[in-house]
Amino acid sequence: MTRASGLCFVTVLALAAGALADPGAARISRTWPQAYSVERNESSGILSLRTPFYVVEQDLNRGGVIARIALTHGKAANLLVRPVETRVRDDGGAVLTDLLEPAPTVTHRREGLNEIVTVEGTLRHQDGRASAIRVKTTLQYRWGYIKIRKELLAPPGVRVREVCPLSTTLVPSLSDYGYREGRTEEDGASPFAFGSNVWGKLRLGQPSDKTVQTRHVPRSMILVDAGVEGLEWFVGSDLAQWDLQLTGRRGQGQCVLQASQDPPGLALSVAPLSSTDEAVVLPSSCVFDFYLAFPILEGCAHRPWLHTTFNRNRGAWVPTDEIGRWAEKGIQTVHCHNDGDYYGDGLFWRDGSYPPYPDMDGYDKVLKDCRQVGIRTATYFSNKELHPSTKEFQEHGEAWGRKNRNGDLRHNFYRPGAEYGAQMCLRSGWLEFLKFSIDRVLKNHPLDGVYYDWNTALLCCNPLHETAARPAPGERGAEPGSAAAAPAKGHWDIDELLDLMEWTRHRVGPDGLVIVHNTTTPMFATENFADYVVATEWGYRKWTDRAPDMQDLPLEWNLAGALPRGVISYGTIDKNAPRRLHRLFALEAFLGGSTPWPASEETFALVPLLKPLGDIESYRFADWRNQAVALSDARCASAVYSRAGESYLLLANLDQTPREVTCVLHPEKLPHPLPQPATARRLPTPAASSGKPDQQDAAALDVRQLIGQGVKITIPGDDAILIHVR
Ligand SMILES: [Zn+2]
Repeated sequence: MTRASGLCFVTVLALAAGALADPGAARISRTWPQAYSVERNESSGILSLRTPFYVVEQDLNRGGVIARIALTHGKAANLLVRPVETRVRDDGGAVLTDLLEPAPTVTHRREGLNEIVTVEGTLRHQDGRASAIRVKTTLQYRWGYIKIRKELLAPPGVRVREVCPLSTTLVPSLSDYGYREGRTEEDGASPFAFGSNVWGKLRLGQPSDKTVQTRHVPRSMILVDAGVEGLEWFVGSDLAQWDLQLTGRRGQGQCVLQASQDPPGLALSVAPLSSTDEAVVLPSSCVFDFYLAFPILEGCAHRPWLHTTFNRNRGAWVPTDEIGRWAEKGIQTVHCHNDGDYYGDGLFWRDGSYPPYPDMDGYDKVLKDCRQVGIRTATYFSNKELHPSTKEFQEHGEAWGRKNRNGDLRHNFYRPGAEYGAQMCLRSGWLEFLKFSIDRVLKNHPLDGVYYDWNTALLCCNPLHETAARPAPGERGAEPGSAAAAPAKGHWDIDELLDLMEWTRHRVGPDGLVIVHNTTTPMFATENFADYVVATEWGYRKWTDRAPDMQDLPLEWNLAGALPRGVISYGTIDKNAPRRLHRLFALEAFLGGSTPWPASEETFALVPLLKPLGDIESYRFADWRNQAVALSDARCASAVYSRAGESYLLLANLDQTPREVTCVLHPEKLPHPLPQPATARRLPTPAASSGKPDQQDAAALDVRQLIGQGVKITIPGDDAILIHVR
């Protein structure tokens, strides 16, 4: 690991002579798409597609299916304990599979930085006999995700009871999950539902953890080894493929996530058709689009992300000296957030409008002052909202809008009569206009990048966004009345959201700034292009008188730890809660490697505690779930910063009163194991952190006891301490 420009980079050995001549060119940012290296090994039958961050292998002797996914800086040698199989159950109940195809036809080509692999073969009976059904799979390897198109080809009259384009078993460590339900308005879902994840845990040996089973194929499912790594799948934008294609009726599928004993793991199957007794005739061709994605992990700890916001503030723009104070406090990024009429003066940034203010020079001054002191800047865009006052809304709002089955638009009001904008769907001309609108702002102002609100795909029933009425890329799409609009079958706009994220990274460049907000709908595929994520604005239980135990925090508190997350305190802590909960919020954020957002005074107070680490990105981080440190008190928790030869242990007490705990270190379980730790010291608490004078000296701890029966340590109430072991 090296550090450059305050960002974490992975250095790879550049083999090309040209790259050797320019060492700077060998540094790769996690967010910047790179080419794959592809190797086809004829003797082992493995086709491997590799980047510095992950490898995916297809087994050409077993149907050409994906048999291994591994993250360079993850934990599991393979996130799959069974390959990703296609299964069909015929009308006699026999299971056909592509795994038994011994010699599929496989092609491979490069398209820009992406790799396209096609696999064609026959579904086979368990005894190896070929069936009449062929399957053609096209895998588009993009940055951090694979877009998969599965096409089943059948002669006339083939009847089947079950079609399952995705069946696999995952490592049991991916035991935290979330899925976005596949129900629509017709199935009783609220027409403009946000589609938040349904969260749960599925741990082997925990009988209280329930199997997930639903007749409606979910739109997405994310599975996480919390704080460590993960894997997700989601369906493409055309939901009719999954909901209606095979039977014309919704709810005929079966998606199951259940514990599997042989092999041990989490068995996942996603079947748009599943019946125990009723068979349907397969069409001659049916297509299913879905994705697999994983977090791009750099394997290094994140610096606390210190962020704040500004707005026009009645024309009283942030003065230069205030921005200087931001820099002194350690603020790294800011963004302009002004999507509503906060001051009742009518001057705010109406989504999609430009220019938003009469005094854009004041806006530019703030941005320039930030740049002057090394603070990076972004401005707010809603990926889903367009203000009705804009010409674009008046001309295209009906055509671009996210609609229910009735054809209504949804306007987002923040108080009666005052709105942010109407909801748009990216699967329309809105996508191209949004890009135009973002580009217009980035071109005209000294910004480092963007802040995306509503960075999520949503169900939409605007029939203009389906089939022939849909615009080609670069076009703004059909107008109302220009297409004979049959009722919509239902779609969401995930293909287009990914397009927007890739475009955005390309637009702001490798050093540009991309911040996304995705409360309740985090996704690896989109976050891989972002520098920072904002989370937990709503959707979880409010903190009123007590901070929750660490294990009760939402999964999105740090997800897989791939990138710095800001957890929103104003969305989490009840406004009447005691102030000390803000201190605990900061402590719990730090124990997860996250940061309160925007940075609170309690955050600034806690940051100096980590100062002894120096370059934080030179460490690996393990959150409160680490197995290296054991504390005897349930209201105390630890996190670990580890690098070769040394570790820092962050020990926190979430109770108001001091706690004496027994602390045991298992040095072999540190991210960088310490074979023979020689010294352990409790570091003085900085005055800025405790609000009390500096303790004078570091206190030596008995390292043998620390790694043996444990040392007794008193941790002050609502506070944390740091122990250095080497
Ligand atoms: Zn739509």
